[in-house]
Amino acid sequence: MLAVKFLGRGAVAVQEYPDPRPDEGQVLVRIRASALCGSELHAYHGESELASNPGHEPAGVVVDASRSRRWREGDRVGIHAVWGCGHCQWCAQGIYTFCDAKGGCPGAHAELMAVPDHVCVPLPDDIPFDVGALLAGDGLGVPYHTSRRLPTRGGDSVVVIGCGPIGLGNVLLQSFFGARVIALDRVPARLQMARDLGAAAVVDVGAADPVLAVRDLTDGRLAEAVIEATGRPEGFALALALVGKAGTIACNGENAEVTLHVGEHLIRRDITLFGSWFYHFREYPEMLELVRRGLPVQKLITAHYPLTQASQAFADFAAGNTAKAILEP
Ligand SMILES: [Zn+2]
Ligand SMILES: [Zn+2]
Repeated sequence: MLAVKFLGRGAVAVQEYPDPRPDEGQVLVRIRASALCGSELHAYHGESELASNPGHEPAGVVVDASRSRRWREGDRVGIHAVWGCGHCQWCAQGIYTFCDAKGGCPGAHAELMAVPDHVCVPLPDDIPFDVGALLAGDGLGVPYHTSRRLPTRGGDSVVVIGCGPIGLGNVLLQSFFGARVIALDRVPARLQMARDLGAAAVVDVGAADPVLAVRDLTDGRLAEAVIEATGRPEGFALALALVGKAGTIACNGENAEVTLHVGEHLIRRDITLFGSWFYHFREYPEMLELVRRGLPVQKLITAHYPLTQASQAFADFAAGNTAKAILEP
């Protein structure tokens, strides 16, 4: 089979690998769509060569179910990237991300994958593979899980800091849920995408003072909720400055160390601060239902490439020219 290989320093090759073979309890899936994720860019720009690639948002068709009792050949499936053990108390609740024995989903930018059958989700015939990759992956999963934990109601002002794919997913979902979304970025094309996905207002942080702008847009109250999706300390600092009294900050961006004055930033204004990683396996049917009710997930996808053009796809993605990009083996 063909699969993508990360060579380091922004170099990507597509090369021949032996076909994977399913172990007991696994199925072999022919990948039809594999989404690029911002989290892959660290490895993409990194010095070292990888054995294959960090792709982890795939959807496809089961082509060998001989070692599984859950699926049949021909079933369309999405693949959850966090492979829980399937036996512990967390996995029994459909929360693979909390499993202490979890594994990852290696190398989804490939023609074939052998995967544990319990990490597959059913992809109905009316859901295209590229949308399925966003539903099973983090393109919609991260914004959805975040939204489940926000106490906001329709009409609240929600600021989204950073309009990369995860930020844009939050813009789409929060707008769909009735929030008044204010999207922040410094790239005009991304701000335009945020508008197209439903943002009520956008602020170019390179051209305007975001605190003044958000104060203006909210009659001085600032935001009921802020979603930090840059993963940069200055994005986190901005979140602290933009959240209103008794508001909530959700962290999607994986910041390392940040400055936080607990008294001033949190306690004296009753601020809630939480982190939110990936989504819970059990949340997949809820996301599917949202798509059925008209959530236009496909608007998050701005580019498709054949697997053989992976190098171009990653170059465009790293340059910030695309929202969600899909490889189609
Ligand atoms: Zn991801
Ligand atoms: Zn487990």
